[in-house]
Amino acid sequence: MPPSSLYLHIPFCKTKCPYCDFASWSNKEDFIDQYFDALISEIKIKCEVYNTPVGGGRIGNSRDYSLLRTVFIGGGTPSLVHPDYYKKLFSELKKYFKISKDCEITLELNPGTAQKEYLLGYKQLGINRISIGAQSFNENILETLGRKHTIDETLEAISLVKECGFDNFNLDLIYAVPGMTEEIWTSTIHKALDLNPKHISSYSLTIEPNTPFEHIYKNPNSVPDGDFASDLYFELCNILKEKGFNHYEISNFSRPGFESKHNLNYWIGNEFYAFGVNAHRYLNGLRTSNTKELETYMSNPSLEIINDFPIDYNFEKIMLNSRLNQGFEVNLLNKISKKNQFEITETIKDLSNLGYLELLDNRIHLTDKGMFVNNEILLRLI
Ligand code: SF4
Repeated sequence: MPPSSLYLHIPFCKTKCPYCDFASWSNKEDFIDQYFDALISEIKIKCEVYNTPVGGGRIGNSRDYSLLRTVFIGGGTPSLVHPDYYKKLFSELKKYFKISKDCEITLELNPGTAQKEYLLGYKQLGINRISIGAQSFNENILETLGRKHTIDETLEAISLVKECGFDNFNLDLIYAVPGMTEEIWTSTIHKALDLNPKHISSYSLTIEPNTPFEHIYKNPNSVPDGDFASDLYFELCNILKEKGFNHYEISNFSRPGFESKHNLNYWIGNEFYAFGVNAHRYLNGLRTSNTKELETYMSNPSLEIINDFPIDYNFEKIMLNSRLNQGFEVNLLNKISKKNQFEITETIKDLSNLGYLELLDNRIHLTDKGMFVNNEILLRLI
């Protein structure tokens, strides 16, 4: 089966948030034209190669295209870009791919960039899911994060998104931010719920190397500790479950049936296409990525780096599947663990007694407690 998911990276942002280490730049909007030309040329060059019987696309003379079931336009801030650019991009993609009628097409939007004309244009192109970088419903926390939008702008963006007919939207929220109390966090969760999102993604703030936050929060005592972060995480899990959300992945919650199909595809371990600066893809058993330098990408968009870390298929499947509530097959452990069968069984029992996991139908499912420390749990098992 050819891959059925495709990612497009749009690296432009109004301002650069001080905690962000994504491939994104502010004050580069003058390059949008050039960037989209590069994207189109990358798609052209690579799809000619992918759409061979080996790539699984076009077979012989019959134009049996790869069928896309999910497209994700992420960034950066894709909502900064006029729909006409995406129109050009989609017409290029349609030369190489069929887009299924029920294709989930997500676009990321940041408050402060929402425009009715743009949203209506996105809708017309078939974009049917909007992921909104709300991050917090507390002004002080937004300020600490260096976000340049206000809560009013977030509310305005959400109401525009709804008005333009996007019923399926996600809210991103960040917790464990310096200065955050339990009250601030629970109030943000409740305010988010009042807005009726179909999906909530929530991540703990991490201090990434080479970001301004690395210098501001040099002292580890200046950021919330792991215990406090885990309390906030459990609070989130409990409230959202009580309100009928499905906790289907470590950091992702949805109304039943509104899981992000695109991201599920990654976590299941399926292959996917990706285009744009710093885009990472998984095709024909190989993970490759594009340069992280904007100018280099625009001058040579087809350049690819092979990520040459050895991938053990079973190890990767455990790593990815353990993030999901469906868990992973216990048999996979026998294939990669240094422990013998007896030791594996004992470790599973111990971790289960401590409330980190459950063994059901020969699958290991991490509990909320286990999910918060999933890497440590996997290390114990492997
Ligand atoms: S808006 Fe998002 S992508 Fe852009 S700088 Fe902020 S966190 Fe990074």
